[in-house]
Amino acid sequence: MKQIRIHRLAIISGILIIVSLISVQVQPSQLIALYLQRYSGVDALHLADIILGLLFTAIGLLLFELRQTRRLYMVGLKLKKHHARHVQLLNKLPYAIAELDSHRVIHHSNDAFRQISTLQGLPSIQQQIEQLFNQLEQNSDQQSPTLLQRIQADGAPLICLEWQLHRSNNHLFLSGRDITQQLEEQDRLSISEKIIESTPIGVMVTGPDKRIQYTNPAFEQVTGYNTQEVLGHFPSILSSGKQGADFYKQMYQIMENEGSWQGEIWNRKRNGDIYLEWLSISALKDEQGKSTHYIGMFSEFTAQERVKEKLRTLAYYDGLTSLANRTLFNEHLQRLVTNNNEKQLCVIFFDIDGFKRINDTLGHHIGDQLLVAIANRIKETCREEDTIARWGGDEFIMAIEVSDSHIGIDTFCKKHLKSLKRPFLINGRELSITASMGVSIYGDDAHSSAELIRNADIAMFQSKKRGKNRFEIFSPAHHEVLLESMEIENRLRVAIKENQIDVHFQPQVCQGSTICGLEALARWHDPVLGQVPPQKFIQVAEETGLINDLSELIYHVALKKFKTIRAIYPAFGLSVNLSASQLQDVNLVTTLKQVTDAQSISPSNIKLEITEDVLMSDIEQSIRNIALLKEMGFQISLDDFGTGYSSLSYLKDLDIDEIKIDRSFVQDLISSERNKAIIEAIVAMSKVLEIDCVVEGVETEEQLNQLLQIGCTSFQGYYFYKPMPANQIIELLTDYCQE
Ligand code: C2E
Ligand code: MG
Ligand code: MG
Repeated sequence: MKQIRIHRLAIISGILIIVSLISVQVQPSQLIALYLQRYSGVDALHLADIILGLLFTAIGLLLFELRQTRRLYMVGLKLKKHHARHVQLLNKLPYAIAELDSHRVIHHSNDAFRQISTLQGLPSIQQQIEQLFNQLEQNSDQQSPTLLQRIQADGAPLICLEWQLHRSNNHLFLSGRDITQQLEEQDRLSISEKIIESTPIGVMVTGPDKRIQYTNPAFEQVTGYNTQEVLGHFPSILSSGKQGADFYKQMYQIMENEGSWQGEIWNRKRNGDIYLEWLSISALKDEQGKSTHYIGMFSEFTAQERVKEKLRTLAYYDGLTSLANRTLFNEHLQRLVTNNNEKQLCVIFFDIDGFKRINDTLGHHIGDQLLVAIANRIKETCREEDTIARWGGDEFIMAIEVSDSHIGIDTFCKKHLKSLKRPFLINGRELSITASMGVSIYGDDAHSSAELIRNADIAMFQSKKRGKNRFEIFSPAHHEVLLESMEIENRLRVAIKENQIDVHFQPQVCQGSTICGLEALARWHDPVLGQVPPQKFIQVAEETGLINDLSELIYHVALKKFKTIRAIYPAFGLSVNLSASQLQDVNLVTTLKQVTDAQSISPSNIKLEITEDVLMSDIEQSIRNIALLKEMGFQISLDDFGTGYSSLSYLKDLDIDEIKIDRSFVQDLISSERNKAIIEAIVAMSKVLEIDCVVEGVETEEQLNQLLQIGCTSFQGYYFYKPMPANQIIELLTDYCQE
């Protein structure tokens, strides 16, 4: 029984030890004492049981202590981790933080604090602390005194720091942060605010619903409305009614698409006065691109400003087409040249083909309207970023930037040529035009704005020469052509002055091989340039205004020589070519009459050859001259027939005596059925109209036979005779008379 009890005691002791191990609250020795007290009646405690109990108790105690130590160790570890995390966290803060003890000495601080304290130009931190404490002492209500400090080391930007002292229980903390950016932003905002409030420019801000949310004092000064009166209203409160609904619709559309709009607008003041203002509206957008506000800024045009604006417009814009003028274009081009980026800058010169004809035939009023329509067409075809200007007369100029000059220019020019070909409707009349274009590329042969313009002009000149309605990209060869023209011009001046121009004669044959006329053809052999073909020097003379002097000289020489020829063989007349501008010359009739009379030759022996282009240039003056010449007895021949407009009405209305079928038809006569058909038609028509018909450029017997078959009777060509000097003609005619 006793044994059982002792065992029980030991077991209970053990259990108590285990319990004590599990429960931290009760000491095992206490439990054993309680147990012994309770069972004090049992005096025969077996020693071994006691030792065992004590051993168990000791083990229990030992285990308990071990557990406690482990627990404390774990808590310590946790605290260390916490501490490290706090230090890490503190170091990550953008603020500088330091903990102070009661003697105002820093105990702990974070990285930012250490960084700030090493800033160049910063007085010692201790001084900051002292100042903060002084503030604290002077103003006891202040819980966290603040100190603003601006520091600027030599050459370094200004830095603004804000220091603050915090008290928490018995702890003191010092925090500091860099508020440079924040202060700058505040400064900026307050400056902007002051500007908006003090600017003489009216400012009005509306919300996305377009209702007014803000107006500045200048708004009131200009419109007469104060902010309270217009808040919540639409800007249409200012509407003058001068602009239609379409105007506003377009304005909002541009603003939505492009984010801003600016232009002139007539508005009405509170007192009813209508005034002109320059308005600029911008849309403020959020991150999703939705308009959140519209900011309108405007200034009233004073009478003086209106005049200034008008003068500026006059100085920089073309009055007719409203395009930029030369001055503005030059300025713009200069800027493009200076800021030239990786794109290729090109200048394009436009010249309207035969514009003078339209002006002369339909009047300047129609010509002007057409120019405006052309300017608009060019503008429509251009991109927003292209620069367009009216260079003068019927010339336009453009500056464009393209990524690839070859593809870009080709596309650009073809697009414009095509667009200009579409008829224009002017005053109910359809007018068709074409243009010649010249292009120059920056960097290729031009290194300045002046060179760009000059080269484009030269290239355009080349387009004209090569048949118009086309474009040419400048090449140095064009320049050579121009130089050649200039050289011809210089030499031609000398040739005219020194009577170096000669005339050859080409016989015309009719009815088999009878010579029935002579054509006078100008010849010029220059000592420097050699033999210059008439087409070349006549064109230069036309372009340079030398044509009238040259033609007078040719006519004089031709008639003088013809007089000698007539002395031998008086049976036929002389054909003389007139150039395009000669026929428009008001003095033409008098000059021809004088020279003809001087040689005592009757005008009826002279046939004046004009080309169809001559007629198209200045129809009214040409018609007047032709009528007068016919009245005097001169005959008129239409040269190179079939290559120009071939208007049948001219043949009848102008009372033409002869037509000369161009030699281009004869050249392909054998191979081309079409050419044959054309010659047949012209011959048939001339018979009906009773007009003489001469075929030019007959070179072979085969051609002659074909032409005879068609019914042609008069010819001129190398097959019969080449042009020859007067003395050879005299020889020829002398033989001819003897036959
Ligand atoms: P045009 O008035 O049609 O003169 C005929 C041109 O054809 C002449 O050339 C003549 O030499 C050339 N010709 C004649 N028969 C043949 C032929 O069988 N085959 C070929 N291939 N050519 C032939 P030219 O003398 O070189 O004159 C060329 C053009 O220059 C003239 O064409 C005329 O438009 C102009 N021209 C010549 N002299 C004068 C002038 O004194 N005043 C004006 N305004 N123009 C002139
Ligand atoms: Mg001729
Ligand atoms: Mg001809």
